[in-house]
Order: sequence, then C-alpha cells, then structure tokens
Amino acid sequence: MWNFETDPAFQTELDWIEQFVTQEVEPLDHVLDSPFDVTNPLNVRLVRPLQEVVKARGLWACHLGPELGGQGYGQVKLALMNEIIGRSRFAPLVFGCQAPDSGNAEILAHYGTAVQKARFLQPLLNNDIVSCFSMTEPAGGADPTMFTTAAVRKGDGWVLNGEKWFASNARYASFIIVMAVTDPDAAPHRRMSMFIVPTDTPGYEIVRNVGVGSHAPTHAYLRFKDVRLGADAMLGGQGCAFEVAQVRLGGGRVHHAMRTVGKARQAFDMLCDRALARRTQGERLADKQMVQEKIADSWVELEQFRLLVLRTAWRIDKHKDYRLVRHDIAAVKAAMPKLLHDIASRALHLHGSLGLSNEMPFIGLVADSFLIGLADGPTEVHKITLAKQVLRGRTPSAGLFPDYHGPKLKADAREKFGLGLEAAAELEMVG
Ligand SMILES: Cc1cc2nc3c(=O)[nH]c(=O)nc-3n(C[C@H](O)[C@H](O)[C@H](O)COP(=O)(O)OP(=O)(O)OC[C@H]3O[C@@H](n4cnc5c(N)ncnc54)[C@H](O)[C@@H]3O)c2cc1C
Repeated sequence: MWNFETDPAFQTELDWIEQFVTQEVEPLDHVLDSPFDVTNPLNVRLVRPLQEVVKARGLWACHLGPELGGQGYGQVKLALMNEIIGRSRFAPLVFGCQAPDSGNAEILAHYGTAVQKARFLQPLLNNDIVSCFSMTEPAGGADPTMFTTAAVRKGDGWVLNGEKWFASNARYASFIIVMAVTDPDAAPHRRMSMFIVPTDTPGYEIVRNVGVGSHAPTHAYLRFKDVRLGADAMLGGQGCAFEVAQVRLGGGRVHHAMRTVGKARQAFDMLCDRALARRTQGERLADKQMVQEKIADSWVELEQFRLLVLRTAWRIDKHKDYRLVRHDIAAVKAAMPKLLHDIASRALHLHGSLGLSNEMPFIGLVADSFLIGLADGPTEVHKITLAKQVLRGRTPSAGLFPDYHGPKLKADAREKFGLGLEAAAELEMVG
C-alpha cells in the first residue's frame, strides 16, 4: 500500500508546530547569537519558556523513545517535524533535538553505563548542558583510519594525547566525546575507542576557535596533553569507536537532510515571492521563461529530494537498524548539498544585488550547502559508499558481449518460443 498522506491527528501537531515556529521561534534567530550558549542570561530568558511550551505539548526530544522522555515517533514523523524546525537556527534547541547533542544523547543512551547516563545524559536531555563530538584531526577528517590522537593505558585508566580539529561548540560544551587510538596494531576499524572527556579535565585545551565565513568562531582546534581519564571514561567497548560513530552519524545525517528540506523550501518560497513581486521590461519576473525554468527545476528537485528523505526515514522505521539503510542514508547525504546550493543560488540571483547583500539569508544558505557537504564526511566519500552498496551482490555478465546484447536476447527469445530459422528470417524482415 502506498500512501503519501499525513494522518489527521499528526497533521494537527504539524500545524501547531508551523505557527509556533513562525510566530515564537524564528524571531529568536534575529536577536540571539549562539543556540549553544545555554547559560547566557538572554538565551535563558527567551528560550526556556518556549522549551516549556514544547514539553507541555508533548513534542520535546521527539527523536528519542519514551524511556528517555521523547515520543518515540519514529523517523517519518520526525522528518515532517524537522522540515519545519530546520528553517530556524533556534528551533532545534526549543524542540530539544539540536545536533550534536541529539546524536550524542543517542549514543550515550545506547552505549553508556548507568553512571555515564546519570552524569552526562540526563543533564544533556534537559538542555542544562551542551556537548561536542570530536573525530576530525588537523591532518584529515575524511579518512578516520588516519587519526593519530591516542589513549594509552595507565594503571586502571587512560592517558590521552593528540589534537582534534573543527570540534563544533567545544567552547560551550561540558563534555566532549573523543575518538582515539587504543589498539594501534588491530585491524583498521578496530584500532579506536570513544572516550567521554569533561572539559574541566586538566590537559584539555582549546588552541583556538574557528569561524565559518563571517560567522562567529564556534569550531575548535583542540589539544589533549597527558589528559588522564578513568577506566569509566570509555563509551562502548574497546576498539568499537567506528561502531559507535556509525550509530551516531547515521541518525545525524538523515536529520540534517530533513532540516535541509526546510531550508531549501524557505529559499524556494522566497524565489517564488520575488518572481511575482519584481517587475522588469513591463512584466513580472514570473512571466519570463528563463525564470519559469528556475522555478520549475527548483520545485522538481525539492520534491524529488523530499521523497528520497521520507523514504529513507520510512526504511529506518521499518528495519530499525541503520546498517540496513546505509545506502539510503549515503544517498540523501550526497544529494543534499547540491539541492540546497542550487535552489539557494537561484533565489539569490533572482533577488539581484539585494540577494547578495548581508540583509538577506542567501549567502548564508549557500555557505550552508558547503557545510553540509563536509560535516559528517565529504560528499565524495558518501557517493563511494553508495556505489559500493549498490554494486554489492550483483553478478556481471560473463561473456565477451553482455547478457543484454541485442543478438543474444533475440536468439534467447527464438529459443523460448520455439521459432525455427524460417520464422527467424521473417522476424529479421520485420526488423
Ligand atoms: C561546519 C562544520 C562543522 C564540523 N563539525 C565537526 C565536529 O563537530 N566534529 C568533528 O569531528 N568534525 C567536524 N567537522 C569536520 C568534518 O567532519 C570534516 O570537514 C570532514 O570529515 C572532511 O574532513 P577534512 O575537512 O579534513 O577534509 P579532507 O579529509 O582533507 O578532505 C578534503 C576534500 O578532499 C576530497 N576527498 C576526501 N576524500 C575523498 C575520497 N575518498 N574521494 C574523493 N575525494 C575525496 C573531498 O573533496 C574533500 O572535501 C565539521 C566540518 C564543518 C565544515
């Protein structure tokens, strides 16, 4: 059964989210700096009351199951919510599902010990603290098997040394989840483990914070120098960092894609508005065929991408195992930068000089398209994953000419229908 409709009860919730985000949350984006600065008095004054409204409505942390205070809605409903939430910088915070905390909460819930959950997960779920996830190193992020940051056993604990790069929100974080080599001689994907490092641990240092474009510097260059960690600092088993990272990044990537639908739709709506409002040479931009092509292409690309995201969400709900939907997730991850880039660029261009100005959101949206093409791994790597998964299990033609070569198909068909040479000659004559 195929069904492209939202059930009426949930549609009521979506309608409520739409008007709440538009009226109450989007204005925050124009007066507050970082959503992660949770102790900033103005953030506390303006954000906390909205979080309470969301909690009372039963829409808090919907990516989590009921045992962690969420609704256990599943990914399809989450996708529909995230399309709205994705439009606003502050909405994920107001709805308790902001990255990277949402993914960090998932792995703490999945792999954390009772002590780790009490110390780190609960305050994170309440948004009393924020966290950071740190894999990338200055020498390269696309290939984690090259990482050198290492933890060495000392007594019953560990000593961590090394450097990390582009660790988002480290400056606001109470703890950082760090990927480090613990078993240098093991197979490439069993060499590393995850550690929880509280940011007040001696030896931990932010070398500097780096900004994206003209944005405030919130991505940290980190150094760990003889950082002593207890045995209880490890998250998941020894050598299991790749497994933990996959659980975290699988969900994270698809949630980014859901929010990207919202951002691309926002750019598309502005594109349409400008096409209708602006006149040149005695007619509306909307009456020019080259503008109509921009609108048509953008609509088709957005709807195609949205369906791919929703189907991926549906497959995650169905299989409940990210490993079985790896290729779907790789596909949406690889497709989303181009989608946002193309629609935001068209909207920018159609607004002329105003579109390029710092009074409009388009430069930010185009920069975001590059951001989502790098964060959680570059597009090329995800295309490689997708291609490998697609090719897995296929058997190639064995002969000199492929199995689908015309003469062979004809010969096979003649044999199937018992047609002799005479009938074959007739067939040749009709083409
Ligand atoms: C805004 C932002 C936030 C981020 N936040 C975090 C964070 O919180 N924590 C964290 O750990 N990391 C974070 N990152 C880092 C991100 O994960 C890395 O940027 C990404 O993995 C790529 O690593 P790199 O930047 O070192 O690029 P490199 O590994 O040097 O790759 C550079 C380029 O080389 C090409 N390339 C690489 N591999 C291949 C390949 N196999 N085939 C073909 N071409 C290839 C691609 O064009 C790629 O863009 C963030 C990045 C951004 C932009």
